[in-house]
Amino acid sequence: MLTVHNVTKTYYFKNGQENVLQDVTIAFPSGKATALLGPSGSGKSTLLNIIGGLDNAYQGEVCLFGQCLNRQNRALYDSYRLNQVGFVFQSFYLMEQQTVSDNVTLGLLPLKLPTKEIESRVASVLEQVGLQEFAQVKANLLSGGQKQRVAIARALVKNPAIIIADEPTGALDSETAAQVLELLLSFKKDGKIVIIVTHDEDIAQKCDYIARIQDGKILQSPPNEDKPKQLTWKKPKFSWRESLRLMMHNLWQRKTRNAIMSGFASIGIISLILTTSLGIGAQLYLQQQVDREFNPKEVVITTSDRSQPIEQTFINELKNDERVASVETAYPIILTKVTYDDTAAGGSPTISVPDLTQNQADRMNVLYGTLPITTEIALAIQEDYAKKLVDNPEELVGKTVRLVASGYQEDAQIVEVSATITGIFGEPKDENGRSFDSGPRSANGVNYVTSKALNQKIIGDSTGVTEEQLEYRVYTSDINPAKDIAALARDKGYRAVAVADVVGTINQLFDGIRVVLTSIGFISVFVAGMMIGIVMYISVIERTKEIGLMRALGYRRFDIGRIFLGESIAIGFITGVVGCIVAYSLSFGVNIGFYDLVGFDIVSIPWTSFVAALTIAMTMGLLGGIIPAIIAARKDPVVALRTE
Ligand code: ADP
Repeated sequence: MLTVHNVTKTYYFKNGQENVLQDVTIAFPSGKATALLGPSGSGKSTLLNIIGGLDNAYQGEVCLFGQCLNRQNRALYDSYRLNQVGFVFQSFYLMEQQTVSDNVTLGLLPLKLPTKEIESRVASVLEQVGLQEFAQVKANLLSGGQKQRVAIARALVKNPAIIIADEPTGALDSETAAQVLELLLSFKKDGKIVIIVTHDEDIAQKCDYIARIQDGKILQSPPNEDKPKQLTWKKPKFSWRESLRLMMHNLWQRKTRNAIMSGFASIGIISLILTTSLGIGAQLYLQQQVDREFNPKEVVITTSDRSQPIEQTFINELKNDERVASVETAYPIILTKVTYDDTAAGGSPTISVPDLTQNQADRMNVLYGTLPITTEIALAIQEDYAKKLVDNPEELVGKTVRLVASGYQEDAQIVEVSATITGIFGEPKDENGRSFDSGPRSANGVNYVTSKALNQKIIGDSTGVTEEQLEYRVYTSDINPAKDIAALARDKGYRAVAVADVVGTINQLFDGIRVVLTSIGFISVFVAGMMIGIVMYISVIERTKEIGLMRALGYRRFDIGRIFLGESIAIGFITGVVGCIVAYSLSFGVNIGFYDLVGFDIVSIPWTSFVAALTIAMTMGLLGGIIPAIIAARKDPVVALRTE
């Protein structure tokens, strides 16, 4: 028995208020069908929403077998609708794109039953309404009468105490209407409270009782013979798995729109990936080149004026500085030619040597002999060069060659000097043991290694200076202090160059460019997030009825919000995946296109960028979807169901 005690429902307007229900007291017996009869506007739907637990903004009490609803407890209303109320609407409210079976299952999901039980319940209820053959047919293919049977099955499947049918036959022809009515009336025998709202006297006459309402007042009520009874009230529980399934279904239903939007939104993600990665390739390449040719811990200090050599006190200061590993006197030279007087072969082959760095002795890959020691006037040369002088490079070890060279100083003369070859080395290796020559430049990082004594001699011969210290190389123990040491030397009025300075400047430049590009990327992502938000909002508006229906079936606000938010995050995810794929393909193309020009991959996307892009895309979906999801969750089911 469902009883309504002294219920008053008031609508408030700007200039006044109206009592749509006025002190309504009415009883609906179980095991009987009651027709709620009244003219249009008399308050039937309003009363129905209250007894159906869709509306809790009223005064008075609604009680089921003596258990009254607590208006403060919204969760109680959710479980009331889920467990006790089965709604049947005039216009069915089916999920048109889903199968009959899915539509019926929808009414059962929040009860979180085992799959087996769900299946058997759906099957038996479909048999009850005579639709067992149609279980896998899409709802939109059914006739009106069949649709209403599906709706009845959906209401019935959770075995509620009350069946509330709002003008259930209003949209049906008279023959079908009679069958549907008969079906509804048949539930009395299970002890259910059957309530049929109608303004049709013929239908009302077929019910056990007629409750008459007019102008919000009850004119006639069935007898109240309430007997308290214990009922089971399960809290709605809509599993994550089911909500995921529903989300996927919804996304698929609007697949074209979602695909187009993901495509557009992915532009933001693509630009973000590409802008952050564009230049990483170039930067890596530059870094590698610098590391290969220069020692980042090295600071070269030279005097700009030969009459003012670098002061010994400053050098001592540096030597005592704890950041400094060593200070070396440098005698930089320019070596241009090496000639070997090979009488046995009957000639004097000469090689030209490009002016390259000599400071990587620690990375030398010596093949024959040794590297020259400081005090001997000697040098080691690279194998390829040695081969230009003799057929077998090994035999050159210990032989004397003639060198054409000069000091690095501006006024140095070009001189010829004899020196011994102490060793032959092969392709230099970097720290990882890779050949430097892996790059597209066919450069040999180092072509020769000269001894300090040889350099000193060349400078002495070419400039006449031997004692003055014009250049020092300072090696710091770490990369970072190199810049500070260079600054220190500059303060003293010397010229000082730290490789770290150069690398730092290049990095700053790249960082600057990246910040600008990344900001643009983020703006596009923001715009994409707004787009997702707008599309989700449109989706909420389109699906308002569906939201109302789900609330009527006992789904909580949280369940509704979760579905919309999940869809939005899923769209974000798809956007991210599309973005990653397109960005990767583009980078591939760009790199192939530019490789011949620059000789390295200008776009290098680290895998972390893809992970970051996916995360950002999903966050974008989350942020874009949050407001629409809240709007969806907060929709008043009564208003939502009325929305046309
Ligand atoms: P019935 O179902 O019998 O046709 P309703 O319960 O729908 O009647 O409506 C009863 C009265 O309440 C009507 O006068 C209607 O205009 C009014 N009403 C219904 N909903 C609202 C609302 N949200 N705001 C203001 N008035 C409303």
